[in-house]
This record gives sequence, structure tokens and C-alpha cells, in this order.
Amino acid sequence: MTTSYHNHTTWSDGTTDVAAMVAAAPAHGLDEIGISDHYVLAPDRRAVYWSMPLDRLEDYIAEVLAVQEGSPVPVRLGVEADFFPGNEADLCEALAPYPFDYVIGSVHYVDGFSVDEAADIWHTLSPAEVDEAFRGYWARVAGLARSGNYDFVGHLDLPKKFGFAPHADLSKEIAAALDAIAAAGLAVEINTAGAAKPCAAAYPAPSLLRECRRRGIPLLINADAHAPHDLTYQFAEAREMARRAGYRQLVRFERRRAIAYPLPES
Ligand SMILES: [Zn+2]
Ligand SMILES: [Zn+2]
Repeated sequence: MTTSYHNHTTWSDGTTDVAAMVAAAPAHGLDEIGISDHYVLAPDRRAVYWSMPLDRLEDYIAEVLAVQEGSPVPVRLGVEADFFPGNEADLCEALAPYPFDYVIGSVHYVDGFSVDEAADIWHTLSPAEVDEAFRGYWARVAGLARSGNYDFVGHLDLPKKFGFAPHADLSKEIAAALDAIAAAGLAVEINTAGAAKPCAAAYPAPSLLRECRRRGIPLLINADAHAPHDLTYQFAEAREMARRAGYRQLVRFERRRAIAYPLPES
């Protein structure tokens, strides 16, 4: 069984439409494909160019469901929804009417700071500010887990994207976030997209993945693909990484219920 659930189309910042993404699934050996375009509902309603327009969520869902009809493989309806402290109730209300198979919780912003948008901004930060960004990130991941709005966490440890690392020991903050994820019954993903970024490594780091495994946190393997050719980018490497962390199972989702299946061999 191979699934790929974290994928973007022209509804947000992907390069192809839903139909083209889904049509590529069989050639990638996928047994299920999920579409998870960005929906960024910030408390200040900031306009984010890589998000679908907030008033188009219903149209996005209608299109995914329509493509599902004629697809050779099951198409799962997902969304990648940002977590912001203070938007929990609004997001819950916005997503509630729809038949999602899963909702990915991601932290791309620490207040006004976009952790993954530009290396330039990171280069202007002092060491103390770098630490603050990481500390703020992990606090938000804990908040994300406690919000109850999500099924799995997207690209855990995203702030490493441009090769920056905290100077201070943040193991307490990280442990608190992982404990919150475990307590909430959320899964995490190995997001292979990081391998093609300046950090040159999938999210999360192997040490973090082992900490997830130790807490019994379920796992998915995803590529965060923005084009069909990336649908299974570095999946073999990710499976090996999962195995080394002690995982023997992955999960897939149907109507927000996690279903375990064996971690594929290769
Ligand atoms: Zn993301
Ligand atoms: Zn994404």
C-alpha cells in the first residue's frame, strides 16, 4: 500500500490542476492519492498568495469530489490549514461542513514571521531572535495539537528549512509539543520535500522521528508535491528512515479516521 496525501494543486501554490495530479497517481504506484491545498485562515485575515482564496473553499472541495468520481484510484479529500493562536474556533467552523478525509495542521507563521518563505529574513535575525523563532514555532505546534482541528501535523521542524538551527537547548519545548501531539492522538508525516531545500533533509529530523515513535505517534509518508512528478519523491528513503526510527506501520485516513497498514518494504 502506498499513499501520498500532502499535495498541492493550482488551488493554492501547485503547478497543475487536481485532475492532472490525480491522473498521475497510478504511474507513481499510488493506491490512494490525497489533495491538500493551503487554506490560510489567519486571525487578521491577512491575504496569503499561496493560499486558496478563503471564499473558494467550497469550490475547491467540489472539484476534488468531482475528480474523485472518475479516478482510477481513491482520492482523499484533504486540506492544509495553518494554525494560528486565536483562530481555533473560526477554523473549526470553516471546515465543519465538509466531508474531509483529513486535515493537515501546519505552522508556517510565528506571529508575523513566515518561517519558510525566505532565507533572507532568517539572515537578518540575531542568534537570540533565531531561538525565539524556533521557540515560538514549537509552542504553536503544541497549540495546534491542543486545538482539536487536525488529523496530522505537516512538516514538523519546518524552521530548519534554510539551514538555521537554535543555539539554545529547546528539548523541553520540543518534548512538550510532541507530548501534546501524542495526547491529542494526532499523526505526523515524514515530509520528503525538505530534502530538496537548503536543509537537505526530510522533515522531521531522525532524532525527532524517534521521539515520535517512542510516544506511539502514528506516521504518514508524504512528498508535499506541488507537481505530479514529485508525488513519491524520496519515498524509499523515507521508508528506510521510518524503519530506523522503529516504525512498522503507517496510517491512511478515511473521513478523519486513521487506519493503520504495514510499512512497505522498499
Ligand atoms: Zn506547508
Ligand atoms: Zn504543503
